[in-house]
Amino acid sequence: MRETLPFATNEVFIGGRWRAASGGQTLPLANPSDGSTLAEIARGSADDVDAAVAAAQAALAGDWGRLTAAERGRLLATMGRKVLEHVEELARLEALDVGKPLKQGRADAVALARYLEFYGGAADKVMGETIPYLNGYTALTWREPHGVTGHIVPWNYPMQIIGRSVGAALAMGNACVLKPAEEACLTALAFARIAEEAGFPAGALNVVPGLGEEAGAALTAHAGVQHLSFTGSVATGRLVQAAAARNTIPVTLELGGKSPQIVFADADLDAALPFLVNAGIQNAGQTCSAASRILVERAVFDEVVARMAQRYRALRVGPALADLDVGPLISARQHEIVSHYLALARDSGLQVAAQGEIVHDAPAGGWYVRPTLVAGVPDRHALAQEEIFGPVQVVIAFDGEAEALRIANGTAYGLVAGVWTRDGSRQLRMARALKCGQVFVNNYGAGGGVELPFGGVGASGHGREKGFEALYGFSALKTVAILHG
Ligand code: NAD
Repeated sequence: MRETLPFATNEVFIGGRWRAASGGQTLPLANPSDGSTLAEIARGSADDVDAAVAAAQAALAGDWGRLTAAERGRLLATMGRKVLEHVEELARLEALDVGKPLKQGRADAVALARYLEFYGGAADKVMGETIPYLNGYTALTWREPHGVTGHIVPWNYPMQIIGRSVGAALAMGNACVLKPAEEACLTALAFARIAEEAGFPAGALNVVPGLGEEAGAALTAHAGVQHLSFTGSVATGRLVQAAAARNTIPVTLELGGKSPQIVFADADLDAALPFLVNAGIQNAGQTCSAASRILVERAVFDEVVARMAQRYRALRVGPALADLDVGPLISARQHEIVSHYLALARDSGLQVAAQGEIVHDAPAGGWYVRPTLVAGVPDRHALAQEEIFGPVQVVIAFDGEAEALRIANGTAYGLVAGVWTRDGSRQLRMARALKCGQVFVNNYGAGGGVELPFGGVGASGHGREKGFEALYGFSALKTVAILHG
């Protein structure tokens, strides 16, 4: 179904101007809920990336570079207020584009506003130090922007990921070139329009939609870029890191995970149950920090599986705007990947404990899968090791703390972990021993936590975004030593 969109979608935004991509080419943007074409977007080229980097450099040398930290913060705060005024419009765009239920789109728009408020308020609070040094010296540090920062964003949470990376980079005074995903980029375009309205100087933010191997690769290879922020797959993350190495620039990689929630027998199961399931099916499981593995102590294994299964059977899957529990997957390719894992579960004789239902009037062209709970999965099985990126959770039994840790730390990834136990000493022992970037105790925040530094270890990537920490990542520390006698 053709949807009415509030602005022209087939343009790049460079140096404060909207125009067609340099080659005049466009790409179709699919609606995951019915497979129709939602819009045409610009197919940005290497020339467009060149122009965007030049515009960012000009902004740094001009009006944008001259602003004080407080002035940058005020612009971000203004933008945050405007996002809040447009929550419904942004939520609808994200829902149509990504296929997520409207309520999730709404939550993402509010999170975007929070990032802008947070980084707006933090912009003028990044302090340096004075360092006791030799007699007759004053030594101090301050933080400077890298310069031009490149932001490569995936399709699963465009608003949230733009908020956390572009928001922090702008707060520190960098000029940004944003390459949204070819599968979902409407809210990146809306973000640029809101930045314009808020009064950002031309070139502070530039948006070049297009294909990963064209606009994305051109941005990562560009010698005029001083920092790269990438969220997406491990394979592409490695390419981005290699490109960054060729230009010897820093790179932040956020590459997903196979995050566990670990349920001990003493846990408050009533409290845990909603978190166990929601963190697996939120955004149809297409969440880097999805809790795709549920590790359960054997004494309560059957009870937890039965109670999770009950929730799974109540899940309803349908089009984004129907605003049910779960929407479609982003693309035919993602549908194929998830279907492959479901077939593998069947072929390996694994126990499908429960599935949700696709509503009978879901459009035939949409990429729907039934959310699936698979119980009693051996911890070395592909379903327990590989990121599926769909609404599929595996439940694994364990005996005691040591085995829980061995299994939890036994994948290539290390992004987030959840621990459910009433034992305070065990909470701390587990939090220390888990190999990952974030641990939640008696709660779990898939995708959440504007204030909380976030990032991975191992195949989940490196560098931290979110929270105050991101401001350090988006700046370079300079040390100054003055001999004054
Ligand atoms: P991807 O990593 O290929 O795409 C993410 C972003 O990188 C997009 O903007 C894309 O255009 C860009 N890109 C692609 N190739 C590039 C290149 N050579 N140089 C520079 N940029 C490039 O991910 P995908 O193909 O959309 O999804 C595949 C898998 O990745 C999923 O199944 C999932 O497992 C994982 N994924 C993880 C996250 C996450 O949040 N960590 C997000 C999306 C996808």
